[in-house]
Amino acid sequence: MYSIELTDEKLLRVTPPPAEGAEVPEEVKAAMIRQAMDILKNSYAPYSHYNVAAAVLMSSGRIYTGVNVESALLTNTICAERNAIFHAAAQGERRIIAIAIVGGPNSADPDDLAKHDYCTPCGVCRQVMRDFARPDRMTVICAKSETDYREWTLEQLLPESFGPEDLEED
Ligand SMILES: [Zn+2]
Repeated sequence: MYSIELTDEKLLRVTPPPAEGAEVPEEVKAAMIRQAMDILKNSYAPYSHYNVAAAVLMSSGRIYTGVNVESALLTNTICAERNAIFHAAAQGERRIIAIAIVGGPNSADPDDLAKHDYCTPCGVCRQVMRDFARPDRMTVICAKSETDYREWTLEQLLPESFGPEDLEED
């Protein structure tokens, strides 16, 4: 006989959820960065040796995480940011408030993050964020530690962008 049971979802949840476009509170940013640093060790990057983890805060207040996962056929690789966003989307989430990203070459140990520059999201991930955010209201946080980080709006990282509304007929 097998026992098949639901486990606790093991996600952090911020209550009340920070509003879209509002300044993300410091303690929430720190919690997101900590969540990303906690799973950085799970980054699977045997080819590039560039480890990345991300924690994305959705409009429900839940924080979902992801790491980069590479493949011997390198085009199959997925970034940590998209892994986290798709994790959230699979649970029915559709609106990003903020994302925290940590990473660097040979940085599976968070203590190594300070040795390298901030890890910023690639162009593909920026475009995927665009589907789930208002560019001027989403915060992108790139961190070396809970207190050492830089942040931008998605609009600043992806100006004059193409998004879902551009597919609508006038
Ligand atoms: Zn990416």
